[in-house]
Amino acid sequence: MAALERCGATTRLVRRPSELDGIHGIVLPGGESTTMSKLAVAFEMFEPLRERLQTGLPALGTCAGMIMLADRILDPRSGQQTFGGIDITVRRNAFGRQIDSFESELDFAGDAAPLHAVFIRAPWVEDAGESVAVLARVSSGPTAGRIVAVQQEQLMATSFHPEVTHDDRIHRAFLNLV
Ligand code: GLN
Repeated sequence: MAALERCGATTRLVRRPSELDGIHGIVLPGGESTTMSKLAVAFEMFEPLRERLQTGLPALGTCAGMIMLADRILDPRSGQQTFGGIDITVRRNAFGRQIDSFESELDFAGDAAPLHAVFIRAPWVEDAGESVAVLARVSSGPTAGRIVAVQQEQLMATSFHPEVTHDDRIHRAFLNLV
C-alpha cells in the first residue's frame, strides 16, 4: 500500500467480496499461496475475485501472488487452487527453502538501470505461453535465465518482492496498466 501510494494511487485492503466493488486494480501480495487459496475459499472470495480477474481487473501478483495468477502449478499442495489468468507454469519454492532467500540485480524490461530484487522462498516461471511477455530473468549464478517477471495483458507477476525496495518501477508499470 505504501509503495502504491508513493506512486500516487489511493489504496484499500480487500478481504471480503463486497470490498471488490469499485476497485480498479488489485495486488495479490506475497505470503503463502496454499493458505491464500484456502482463505479465499473460506471467505467466499475465490469465485468473485476469479470472475473479476477474468473480466479484466488489472492485477499485480508478487511471489505467492504470482502463484495465484498462474494457470498451472507444478507442485501444488492437495486442493491448492489458483485464480489463474497468466499462461504460465510456476514452480513453488523453486530457489530452495527460506534460508536460500537471496537478493539480486535484474535487467528489467530493457531498462538501463538494473532492478534490485528480493527473493523470499520464491517461485520461478518454469514455462510461459506465447502471449506472455517476459519482463525479467535471473541474470547470474546457478539459476541464471530463470523467468522471474511476466505480463499478460492487464496481469503482471513477479517472483520477487518489489515492495521491500525503494525502486517503484514495478508498481509504476502496474499503475500504468490500471
Ligand atoms: N513459497 C511461498 C508459496 O508457495 C511464497 C513465498 C512468498 O510469497 N514470499 O506460496
